[in-house]
Amino acid sequence: MTSSSSSTTKVHRYSCPGCSADLVFEPRDGHLACPYCGRSEEIPASADQIQERSYEAYLELKPEQLNPITSDALEVQCTGCGATVSFSPPEVAGECAFCAAKIVAQPQATHPMLAPESVLPFRVTHHQAADAIKGWLASRWFAPSALLRLARQESAKGVYLPFWTFDAYTVSHYTGERGEYYWETESYVDRDSSGNVITRTRQVRRTRWRSASGKVTRWFDDVLIPATRSVSPERLDALNPWNLPDLKPYQPAYLAGYRAQRYQVELREGFEKAKSLMAHSIEEDVRGDIGGDEQRVHQIRTAYSAITFKHLLAPVWIGAYRFRERVYQVLVNARTGEVQGDRPYSGWKITGFVIVLLLVLLLLLYLSDQ
Ligand SMILES: [Zn+2]
Ligand SMILES: [Zn+2]
Repeated sequence: MTSSSSSTTKVHRYSCPGCSADLVFEPRDGHLACPYCGRSEEIPASADQIQERSYEAYLELKPEQLNPITSDALEVQCTGCGATVSFSPPEVAGECAFCAAKIVAQPQATHPMLAPESVLPFRVTHHQAADAIKGWLASRWFAPSALLRLARQESAKGVYLPFWTFDAYTVSHYTGERGEYYWETESYVDRDSSGNVITRTRQVRRTRWRSASGKVTRWFDDVLIPATRSVSPERLDALNPWNLPDLKPYQPAYLAGYRAQRYQVELREGFEKAKSLMAHSIEEDVRGDIGGDEQRVHQIRTAYSAITFKHLLAPVWIGAYRFRERVYQVLVNARTGEVQGDRPYSGWKITGFVIVLLLVLLLLLYLSDQ
């Protein structure tokens, strides 16, 4: 393990003690492995605990709070989709992992940022991911054959996506109304079986409203907010769960051989999004507190305290395909193997299917006529 190269040497690469090739992180055993001689090096356990950071302390970022993601990483921005991705030599920029555009910009040294302090290392291998993507596409009805061929040639890319998580204690004061049901007897006019007009009665449900107010409190833990805009929120949602208790303290060794996306959602915006997620739970608490059969919520005022956050990296394999002027992404959660993606439909295959269906129907009609 040569990662301990002193801070005076700028290059921070993991080279094989056997053949001095670059080591890459191996998802199978969580070691650094040499792709050439097969040597495997354990990543030393980090002495650091994962620190929750104080949100307030990081709102006005000071230079000493900013670091490059690794000391030797380069970064490049895709002109196609705007994603900024860092990677370490000997990796090259190549194609954008998110939109499959050729990267034309020159890679530069990474800009300092609010560096991650925790990471979920890759667990699904490239090979497993490629199989999962092919299997997923092949099981889609009416997927164009050309796309399947493309997916077979193009290789999926391993990328760490940025996320924020927030913890907070909330105190919410509310006003609203509590609704209770009661029944009233109501008379109405009807006709009996021989057509005579008669008066009947029936029970009608009504709601009595009384004003209500009070206070609810809650501890929120690890509210997860994606800090990427390169993958749709619905898709990221569907890739859940990430099992945050498995987080490891961040070490650059986990990035060896992979790319990492720079956060696109800043810390402050991330917390605003977290607030709107928290608001759902708080409103449920308020409704529970009001009680009764129905509730009306007029106002909730929430104070947040003890706000802390983490910046974490979570691993995905992405297959991005440019097909008929559109980009299709298929993603694999590289912790669980969950596959999610969008896919085009083949007009020809659907037309063919409808024609066959019509022929079968005609045949059935013909046979039933006989
Ligand atoms: Zn080697
Ligand atoms: Zn791109």
